[in-house]
Amino acid sequence: MAEAKNLNDLLYETLKDIYFAEKQILTALPKMAEAAQSADLKQAFETHKGETETHVARLEEVFELIGKPAQQKTCNAILGIIEEGKEVIVEFDGTDALDAGLIAGAQAVEHYEISRYGTMVSWAKRLGMDEVAELLAQTLDEEETTDELLSEIAEAEVNAEAA
Ligand code: FE
Ligand code: FE
Repeated sequence: MAEAKNLNDLLYETLKDIYFAEKQILTALPKMAEAAQSADLKQAFETHKGETETHVARLEEVFELIGKPAQQKTCNAILGIIEEGKEVIVEFDGTDALDAGLIAGAQAVEHYEISRYGTMVSWAKRLGMDEVAELLAQTLDEEETTDELLSEIAEAEVNAEAA
């Protein structure tokens, strides 16, 4: 018979996945800020690095609340997305299309996070973990705002520059 696993286990596994992902993002963002040509885009990446530090801290708070160790679990999805971002930096170095490529990669990261946090918020609510749901929802909100800001920067200046 299958081992009895439930939503609590899924939530813990997903927390470990996103904890790993956030730490990877933390090291990728300064490189993206450095590569960005647009001042607005550079600023957006720097601001989001600060927010990402908060995301890591919130996850540590969540691990504390559920009474389980803050552990990382390799997330191949984020490693792949970051790897593609690095390819863009190399392949479009010195071109007018670099920033548009950086934004595309960054939005793939945000969408991954939005997917994970969105799911975890509903699971935490279902499990009656209101405080956990609230913390994860704060991060979800910041990921969504960042995604929207990146779209604005792309549409206001970067895409025209690249075209
Ligand atoms: Fe994040
Ligand atoms: Fe993010």
